[in-house]
Amino acid sequence: MIVPMRYVSTRGHSPDHDFSGVLLAGLAEDGGLYMPESWPVFSADDWRALRGLPYPELAARVMAPFMAGAIDAETLHRLCREAYAGFTHPATVPLVQIDRDLYVQELFHGPTLAFKDMAMQLLGRLFDHVLTAQDRRVTIVGATSGDTGSAAIEACRDRDRLDVVILHPLGRTSEVQRRQMTTVRAPNIANLALEGTFDDCQDMVKAMFADLPFRTDLQLSAVNSINWARVAAQIPYYVAAALALGAPDREVAFAVPTGNFGNVFAAWAARRMGLPIARLAIGANRNDILARFLASNDMSVRTVAPSLSPSMDIQVSSNFERLLFELLGRDPERCAAIMIGFRRDGRMAVPDAAWRDATSLFHGLTLDDPATEAAIRRLHREARYLADPHTAIGIEAGRACALPGVPMVAMATAHPAKFPEAMLAATGHRPDLPPHLADLYEREERYRVVPNRLAAVEDAVRAAVLKNAA
Ligand SMILES: *Cc1c(COP(=O)(O)O)cnc(C)c1O
Repeated sequence: MIVPMRYVSTRGHSPDHDFSGVLLAGLAEDGGLYMPESWPVFSADDWRALRGLPYPELAARVMAPFMAGAIDAETLHRLCREAYAGFTHPATVPLVQIDRDLYVQELFHGPTLAFKDMAMQLLGRLFDHVLTAQDRRVTIVGATSGDTGSAAIEACRDRDRLDVVILHPLGRTSEVQRRQMTTVRAPNIANLALEGTFDDCQDMVKAMFADLPFRTDLQLSAVNSINWARVAAQIPYYVAAALALGAPDREVAFAVPTGNFGNVFAAWAARRMGLPIARLAIGANRNDILARFLASNDMSVRTVAPSLSPSMDIQVSSNFERLLFELLGRDPERCAAIMIGFRRDGRMAVPDAAWRDATSLFHGLTLDDPATEAAIRRLHREARYLADPHTAIGIEAGRACALPGVPMVAMATAHPAKFPEAMLAATGHRPDLPPHLADLYEREERYRVVPNRLAAVEDAVRAAVLKNAA
């Protein structure tokens, strides 16, 4: 029997939705995040039955309860097969052992070489499927400092029912990241280079969503990291790694380099579904709000400082609200009060019992840039492993937070070739881009520079969409 899954807001004042509804809505109308009304729980036998399945099939079976009533199991399996067909490793998410009881799970074998592809490749297809069923089109707008934009563009290119407009800060992304966005030739993709910072880009996206006539006219939608579907699509690889290392008959631990808390929250969800996860280690760079929270219940926002791991240069980890909701016993009124206070004051006081609860599972480690570079060098020298700066921070967090006798799996979130300067400085070698991107530096770029004014950005978005309708 299929039990349809409903979703509720962490702040308690939005209508509940099915999976298709939360996919298209992204953020809940009351400013909260959507969460499944109840968690599916797999028994030990359910987990064992997934052992040895090809990754797309395992992924479809793990995600099926979350989409029940909206996407049928057969369609989901097909979409997963298509989403992961473009990954260049036959295991999709290979596990590499680098030390006794220390493993790396590589999530970067997708088209844009970062783990964002794991969720985004499926999201593009889910959007197309749901919009076709509803006979609708939407315009996806997003701001990016690097990895999210290229993953969204690759996932949505050439899809009939989507226009995608991505804003990046002019001159402030890495060259590989920018070229991965601006060299894509597809009629439904447009890149805008904003004369401003990443925060300005995000403010522009928020302002476009707040402009109701514009939002309705263009049918705006978003694929940012608070979209529940992205969290759902990140759960299966934790299951795959745990099963390979002996779960459900043995405990495992994970280490995750963390920015918006989306990836590691998916690990929390896998544990909530019954996977025996003994510990979650969080790696941070100097923007260490989460590590400070775990060390001393100090969740206070500081200014964002650039680092070698730009995808973690974040001070407000938006998905943390999901964990908070759970730590508060799913009380939306308390959750809303704390989050509104956090927005106002730049700091939040998490009740002591909830903080203790969090610290019994999550452990944090902060690495500054020199320590990150030293970690990359040591991994290369001692384990013959090339880890990009984000991955190196995760691996170090895993080492520091390991439990005796429990295998620790660190998530490799980006391919080292995405950060050639950092790799060159740390190891003396510049890693090659994989064959499908080898000519990236020769490809023609296309983007439009726009001033940091809402009217100018809205005109540019309209022009990009109209060009396609014509
Ligand atoms: C996005 C990203 C992260 C951070 O993931 P969150 O889900 O935001 O915590 C880490 N590493 C890389 C390479 C990323 O692209």
